[in-house]
Amino acid sequence: MSDCLFCKIIAGEIPSTKVFENDKILAFKDINPQAPVHILIIPKEHYESVNALDEDSAPIVAEIMLVAKRLADEFHLSNGYRIITNIGDDGCQSVKHLHFHLLGGTKLSERMA
Ligand code: AMP
Ligand code: ZN
Repeated sequence: MSDCLFCKIIAGEIPSTKVFENDKILAFKDINPQAPVHILIIPKEHYESVNALDEDSAPIVAEIMLVAKRLADEFHLSNGYRIITNIGDDGCQSVKHLHFHLLGGTKLSERMA
C-alpha cells in the first residue's frame, strides 16, 4: 500500500535497521524500543492486522514465529522473551500493517494490559 509506513520500509523508501530478511518476511529494530531488544517482524505482503488474515494467508504467521525464534537465539534471549501483535484501536495498533513485536533482554512486566 503506497501510504503505508511499513510498506515504505519494505520498499527501502524509509530507512530501517534490518536484522532479518527473506522473500516473504522482514525484521527490523523498533525506532522507539520498549526493551533492550525490540524488533518488529512483518510480512512483506500488506495485511492490516490479524483481522485481515484468512486460511490462505494465515500460514505467514507460523513463518514469522519461526523467524522470531531464530532472532531470539541470535539476540541471546535464552532467558525468555515476548511476542505481541496489536490489533485496532483498543489494541493500540498505530501502524496498520501486520507486525509482531519481539521484546526481550530484560525481565518484562507481568502486566498484559
Ligand atoms: P504498534 O503500536 O503495535 O502499531 O507498533 C508500531 C511500532 O512501530 C511502534 O513500536 C513504533 O515505535 C514503531 N515504528 C514507527 N515508525 C517506525 C520506523 N520508522 N522504524 C521502526 N519502527 C517504527
Ligand atoms: Zn503496508
